[in-house]
Amino acid sequence: MSRFKALLATRENGAFAARIEQISKDRLPPGEVLVRVRYSSLNYKDGLAVTGKPGVIRSFPMIPGIDFAGTVEESAAAEFRPGDLVALTGAGAGETDWGGYAQYARWNAESLVVLPPGISLEQSMAIGTAGFTAMQSVMALERQGLEPGGEVLVTGAAGGVGSVAVAILAKLGYRVAASTGRPELGDYLRGLGASEILPRESLTPVSAKGLERERWNGAVDSVGGSTLAGILPYMASNASIALCGLAGGAAFGSTVLPFILRGVNLLGINSVRVTRAERLRIWERLSRDLPLHLLDAMTELAPLDRVFELSQKILAGQIRGRVVIDVNA
Ligand code: NDP
Repeated sequence: MSRFKALLATRENGAFAARIEQISKDRLPPGEVLVRVRYSSLNYKDGLAVTGKPGVIRSFPMIPGIDFAGTVEESAAAEFRPGDLVALTGAGAGETDWGGYAQYARWNAESLVVLPPGISLEQSMAIGTAGFTAMQSVMALERQGLEPGGEVLVTGAAGGVGSVAVAILAKLGYRVAASTGRPELGDYLRGLGASEILPRESLTPVSAKGLERERWNGAVDSVGGSTLAGILPYMASNASIALCGLAGGAAFGSTVLPFILRGVNLLGINSVRVTRAERLRIWERLSRDLPLHLLDAMTELAPLDRVFELSQKILAGQIRGRVVIDVNA
């Protein structure tokens, strides 16, 4: 195949456009490994990129898609051979370098991983950046001493990061409180392992006191903003919050009291800048601690041309769980 299908984003004279085109393979950037892409996925960042919101795409023309999985077709790197099943999440794909909404991608070996046994290409993209971030968040909480048996809060629970975090934490033996703005998805969240469903409004800051009854031993927060301010007063002594998202806003106002009187820790999570060794550890943990039947149950499969419509939906908080994009359909 000398040409391949891709979703290409351009900006000409200040006007943003994104459309599906046939692109010559010669235009792929240099790199050690040529991947025949099978699937990509839909993340919040992809929604921002495809709809032309600023902050994700750093140079044009760009193929968005921060994740992809496929088969190695050519490799100049010793650790990859033709036929290997590989995945890439984050690492600048769809932001600084051409990403996954295409039938081909060429990348350096550093950011690619061979899939752990048992995880299919489709499942690796059901995980994607959202699931990778959920595991990364859980591992950050563990490093701060979180142990099974405690109660952990997940915000934005019905979204991508949230759904995977609920499933992992429940499997590891935590009691999981799932916060959602969509209480109608309570059965879905209980099916993933949540033991309590909290309406989103209950996490908005209620008082200026700074401290409330100690409730949670840990939290995975994919919402940020006023939700983060709302959960800080309820964190138990020495508890940590893995802060990974801003679906509810970037700015938050709080007091220092949870930090200095309860020793609460705020752990920043960045899934893009991760060392290769840490990437491999996160994928290994995903292969052990994320029940694949739950992953399948939270995932929808969609063809590439639906990315435009689905991008609007993810920004509106209307996607449930994860969406895998079949770039060949
Ligand atoms: P999703 O859209 O799938 O999930 C976000 C969820 O947040 C929604 O499903 C909804 O959950 C909740 N939500 C949406 N809008 C609002 C709002 N206005 N106020 C409060 N809650 C809201 O996105 P992802 O799971 O892919 O990403 C979640 C966040 O994490 C995003 O901000 C994303 O940019 C960030 N992220 C960061 C990464 C990192 O490296 N730090 C990596 C991956 C994601 P519900 O309906 O249950 O309330």
